This record gives sequence, structure tokens and C-alpha cells, in this order.
Amino acid sequence: MTISVSVQEISILVVDDIADNLQILANTLSKQGYQVRCAKSGLTALRGASTILPDLILLDIKMPDLDGYQVCQQLKANKQTCDIPVIFLSALDDVLDKVKAFEVGGVDYISKPIQVKEVLARVKNQIALQLAKAEITELNQDLERRVYQRTIKLKTVVQKLRQEINERQRIQQQLIHDALHDSLTGLPNRALLIERIEFTIAHAKRNPDYRYGLLFIDLDRFKVINDSLGHLIGDQLLIAVSNLLQECVRENDLVARLGGDEFVILLDGIKSVKDATLIGERIQQRMRSPFELQNQNIFTSASIGIVFSSVEYHNSADLMRDADIAMYRAKDKGKARYTIFDQTMYDETLKLVELENNLRFALKRNELMMHYQPIISLDSNKLVGFEALIRWQHPERGSISPVEFIPIAEDTGLILEIGEWLLREACQQLQTWRQQFASIPEIGSLKMSINLASQQLQEPEFISKLDQILGDTGLDGSSLRLEITESVLIEPEGSIQDTLRQIKNRNIKLSIDDFGTGYSSLSYLRRFPIDNLKIDRSFIQQMNFDSENFEIVRLIITLAKTLGMKTISEGVETSLQLNQLKGLGCEFAQGYLFSIPLAPKQIELMLAKYPQF
Ligand code: C2E
Ligand code: CA
Ligand code: CA
Repeated sequence: MTISVSVQEISILVVDDIADNLQILANTLSKQGYQVRCAKSGLTALRGASTILPDLILLDIKMPDLDGYQVCQQLKANKQTCDIPVIFLSALDDVLDKVKAFEVGGVDYISKPIQVKEVLARVKNQIALQLAKAEITELNQDLERRVYQRTIKLKTVVQKLRQEINERQRIQQQLIHDALHDSLTGLPNRALLIERIEFTIAHAKRNPDYRYGLLFIDLDRFKVINDSLGHLIGDQLLIAVSNLLQECVRENDLVARLGGDEFVILLDGIKSVKDATLIGERIQQRMRSPFELQNQNIFTSASIGIVFSSVEYHNSADLMRDADIAMYRAKDKGKARYTIFDQTMYDETLKLVELENNLRFALKRNELMMHYQPIISLDSNKLVGFEALIRWQHPERGSISPVEFIPIAEDTGLILEIGEWLLREACQQLQTWRQQFASIPEIGSLKMSINLASQQLQEPEFISKLDQILGDTGLDGSSLRLEITESVLIEPEGSIQDTLRQIKNRNIKLSIDDFGTGYSSLSYLRRFPIDNLKIDRSFIQQMNFDSENFEIVRLIITLAKTLGMKTISEGVETSLQLNQLKGLGCEFAQGYLFSIPLAPKQIELMLAKYPQF
């Protein structure tokens, strides 16, 4: 950028007390086109300079009132006029004066008598210098402006970038948080828990005095609450429980949700197992009061498995497994309690798992077989049928009781396959005996009683499987009695009841097994087409010893008669029991007094001698 200025725009103030000098200078400069103003004294000069700023001042040194030095000093002292260049004019040709002229702020010096060319040259120089200065100033200002604008732009870019980085960091942290936390309760999830446990185990290895504890918490009957009150309340309950758990521990303990109704607490740096059981007790205690959710009081409880730190633990999986085992133990013992893990629990669980694995192959390897226990009519003392009871001949462990393996079969669902097999086996067996002893008419009317697990009744294909078996074996439905437990009857009206009716439509009789031990209710009994009540062995066996059990047996028999059902007594071992039952009017009995459950071969020997029992 160049500042172009025409000569006409440049104003020069000429100051001299001698009129002639003034005249000459003014004329010379005007001729060149400069705008010239004149001042005859220092004071007029100062006044004139501050009213209209000249671009240059030619200033005589020697003047009567204020001399040129003083005028210049005052010009320089004034902020308004300080930048106006001053060229001194003087007749004095003294070196000292020249020095003084520069000292007070003059820019040049012209000696008198003046020479026109010199004056013009010096003025031009000064003007050019002034213009150059102005240009530099302008350039500087422009530069500063640009730098300023750029800086602002840069600042906003930097600010934007910073915001973007912050946002990205926030999103990333959110992602990391989400990956490690449960979305419903906000608690750490399994992944974070495992990380912390691994860390804790490693820490314990380096610090032999450090102890920790793990609590595995599972809500009791949560599914019932969820199913009956809805998922919204279920979710709210889980959130409430997660808050409760957090209130029961210290800041540095970790409460995590594994999913569903399972929570885990990692206790950091405890002193003894007592610190862990204390937390377990506190949780139980707090859970005794109901949660108020949507204006309803919701009661829940928890089963808790506790593991205390041990040098044996090298990874989180083992620790979690043992806490889980202890938790299941708490459930088995009746829920709403805590159990501390010990090694025997693990051994037993291992045995159970092993048994479960073996059971999967038991059918294929022909290790399962049926035994049959005779059922006797107390009227005629004659054999009227059998109860089919399953047996497992384990190649290493020998005979395993159904009490031990039927629950496993039920837990694993294997009961469906096993149940179908034994139903066929028992039906086939009765049919075989009938054909084998066709000459003995009584054998043709023997009945087979078969135990059914509730899962079998819930299976949609049960009836078609049953029909298939009856069809294949040629056995008539009326020769079959199916034994079900009381728990089946309390199921809400639905497919099970439908299945029971279909069973009855096939002339198959239904017995309630273990009657008196479960959840009995008259209304249930009346609602269903039940034929027999089997009085549980525990009542029969206590009958002689306490009157209460005798009363119960009497009540059951009376009740059955009122409802038009017949009673079968289980576990009859003495003739005293037999006589008492006869006295009470019980119709049928089975038990060691008559026979233990026997293998088919032995039953065959018995049947061959029929009817002498
Ligand atoms: P349960 O249905 O109550 O079977 C009667 C149990 O009492 C049988 O035990 C039988 O051996 C036993 N018992 C019979 N008479 C006497 C006696 O005089 N004294 C004593 N102390 N016991 C006697 P087992 O065979 O060990 O069966 C136990 C349970 O296993 C059965 O109880 C039943 O719940 C289940 N179970 C057995 N076989 C089957 C089956 O084929 N299917 C299903 N689902 N469960 C079965
Ligand atoms: Ca039974
Ligand atoms: Ca029974």
C-alpha cells in the first residue's frame, strides 16, 4: 500500500518574526503548490498549530518572546502536535545551536540566509519522510488488524476443536461406561466385576495380609413378582434392591448386577469372614421391610452365597462358581438366608454335575430299569397291581436311588425322555405278563401305577405320546394309574388341567401321590377328576407311635370316602399297621410287609404262584 498525496493537500506553517523572511518563504512554498500559513511569533505559532494541524513547521529560532527552541519544546510536549516535524531556521551557524535544535525535537536545520532550492529540497525530504512514516504506520496498523482478525479466527477454530475433542472424549467415556455398566440400575456389570475380581485376586497375592469377600445374591421368587405384577414393577424392584445393596456396603466395595435378579458384592479389604456375614445379615434385615412401589408394598427376600478370600483362588471364575454354589445351598435350605461356602459343598456339587453327565447316557447304555412293587387289596388280600419304580444301575457307583437322580432328571429336563421310556417299559411289562399268564384270569385285570413328573404333564405332546404307547403295547387305558403330586393341582387353570381331563377320557385312573405332605386343599381335590389318594409313607410309619399321625390317616381316609375316592397306603411294614388301616377302611396298600419293589424276573415267579400271596 502506498499513500499518494498531492502537494495541495500538504499544509506548512512558517514561523518568523521578520515579515520579509515570512514573505519569501511563503511565496516560494506556495508557488510549489503547498498550502502555507504564517505566524509572526512563537505564541501565534503554538495557537495556529493546535487549531489546524500542519504537516510541517518551518520555525525560526531567534524570536522576541518565545524563541524557536521553546516553541518546539511546547509542541513536542503537546500530544496533539508532538508528531509534527519541525525544521529550524536560523542565521546562527553555531554547532552548539544545531545540537540544541535536535535535542528539543527538530528534524532538520536550514541556515540563513536561506537558499530557495535548499529549503524546497529539505521540505520535500521531510514531507517524503513524513509520508513514508505514515505509510509504515498505516501498514503496521493494517498488519496488526490482520493479525488480530486471524487471531480471532484462530481462537474460534481452536475453541471449536477443543469442543469437538471434549465431545469425542465424552462420547468415548460414555461408550466405555455403557460397556461396563448395567443399563437398568447403573451398577457395574459382569465385565467390570470380573475385572475388579481379577485385580483383587492379584492384589491379594502380593499382599498376604489382604482379605476380601464375595457375596452372590439372588432374589427369591423374583419371577413370580415379575410375572404377576408386571415388568415395570419388576424393574423398579431391581432398582430399589440395587440401591439397598449399595447402602449396605462401604464406598470402596463393589456392587454389580449380573443380569436378571442376580447381584454380586465384592468386599474390599475386610478383616475376617465375620465382616462378610455381617453384610449378609444387614441385607436380610433390610429386606424384611417391604419396598413401596407404585403404592404397593412389595415383599422380597434374597438367598446369599458368601465366599471368603483364600490363597486357593487364582481366577474370578472359581470364586464366582463357589459363591454361586453357596447361594444355591442357601436356596435349598429354604431361601431368605446366607450360606458360607466350604469345600464339601464344592465336592457335592461336583458329584452332582458328574451324576448329571452320567444320567445323560444312562438310557442309551441301558443302565435304567424298572422294578415293580405289588399293591394289595385290603378287602381280599389279593394282588391288584404294581407301582413301577425306576432303578439306576450305575457301572461304578452301583444302584443309585431315584430320590437322588429323579430331581436331577427334573432339573435338566431329562425327565421327559426318561419318563416316556419308563411309561412304555411299564405298559409293555404289564402286557407281557398278561400274555405270559393268560391262563390266570386275575392277572388280566392287574393295574400298573406309574409315577409322573409335573413336567411330563406340561409337555404339549404328552397325550399323543401316551396314545402312541397304549397303541403300540395294546394296553387298555383302564389298566393304567398315573400318580401325580399335589403340586400339579395348584397350577392355575390351563393346559395341565386339560391334559388331566384327556387322561381321564382314556379311562386312565389318577392318583395323588404322597398325599398329606404337600399343599392340600379340598377345593382343588373337588375340582379335579382324581380317583385315589396315596397316603404318604411318613404318616403310615408314625401311625403306631403317635396318635396325631393316626388321626391324620383316619382323616385322609374319611375325606377320600366323602369325595368318592379310594385310598392306597404306602410303606406298610408291620401287621399292626395293616390291621389299623383295615380298621379305618383303607382299600389298598403296598409296603415291605408284602414285598419290596422287585425286578421283573422275581415278579414273574410271584405271578406264577398266583393267587396265593
Ligand atoms: P414314591 O412314589 O412315594 O415311591 C414309593 C417309595 O417308597 C419307593 O422308593 C419305594 O421303594 C418305597 N417303599 C415302598 N414300600 C416301602 C416300605 O415299606 N418302607 C419304606 N421305607 N419304603 C418303601 P423309591 O423306589 O426309592 O422311589 C422313591 C421316589 O422316587 C418315589 O417315591 C418317586 O417319587 C420317585 N420315583 C421312583 N420311580 C419313579 C418313576 O418311575 N418316575 C418318577 N417320576 N418318579 C419316580
Ligand atoms: Ca408313587
Ligand atoms: Ca409316595
